[in-house]
Amino acid sequence: MTTATSSVSLTGTDLHLSFGTNKVLRGVDIHVDAGKTTSVIGPSGSGKSTLLRVLNRLHEPERGDILLDGRSVLGDNPDALRQRIGMVFQHFNLFPHRTVLDNIALGPRKLRGLSKEQARAVALEQLELVGLAEKAQSRPGNLSGGQQQRVAIARALAMKPEIMFFDEATSALDPELVKGVLGLMTDLASAGMSMVVVTHEMGFARSVSDTVVFMDRGVVVETGKPEALFDDPQTERLQAFLSQVL
Ligand code: ADP
Ligand code: MG
Repeated sequence: MTTATSSVSLTGTDLHLSFGTNKVLRGVDIHVDAGKTTSVIGPSGSGKSTLLRVLNRLHEPERGDILLDGRSVLGDNPDALRQRIGMVFQHFNLFPHRTVLDNIALGPRKLRGLSKEQARAVALEQLELVGLAEKAQSRPGNLSGGQQQRVAIARALAMKPEIMFFDEATSALDPELVKGVLGLMTDLASAGMSMVVVTHEMGFARSVSDTVVFMDRGVVVETGKPEALFDDPQTERLQAFLSQVL
């Protein structure tokens, strides 16, 4: 797989966010080099999804900075920032009454200003890339969950993002469908896409990530190379987490 768009580095520093009195992010630092993958692991409720939402400014951080390619994006229009970041969620939210191809073509047409023909060409190209060209005219409901998630990935890629965020992209899938989606994510990483991946798939985090971040209760407890975190955890909290999930 090749991705034509150039990938950027991303840095979040000292990010804080509260919901009322609930301090969900309490000074989080995260970094992904251009073309590399950083995985975020940690217990449910530790702030992983919130971190992704702060990094693309769906929530404005109360403190801290966000840099793409070394430049702060906090002064930019949030919509402009979001166009540079491809998001894939647990639930794919495809439009059920539109064809697979139309689902993918919609963003490029509306947000990138491509003509109908150009948008369809881009959509078909991405659909081929995720191995589902033959499903172009199907409705999402006639696809398996794994295929729908690959369509959602194609939809994000059609916007030519400079970095991709995945939030538990395989958590809602039947076990036999997980491998195909993780395989696609692995291909994307190999093709040099910058990625931040929130995941419970420890095999993926270990084998594909360049960096792993372990979060608990709104802070980064440990971060480093996957071998260091998985083979030699330094804190009791990470040891306890790994003993539950491995
Ligand atoms: P994770 O993804 O690690 O499971 P989340 O980021 O979803 O954790 O949630 C972290 C904390 O923030 C939880 O206590 C959750 O209830 C709270 N939270 C998340 N989103 C909101 C929101 N929109 N409004 C209020 N509280 C929220
Ligand atoms: Mg979450």
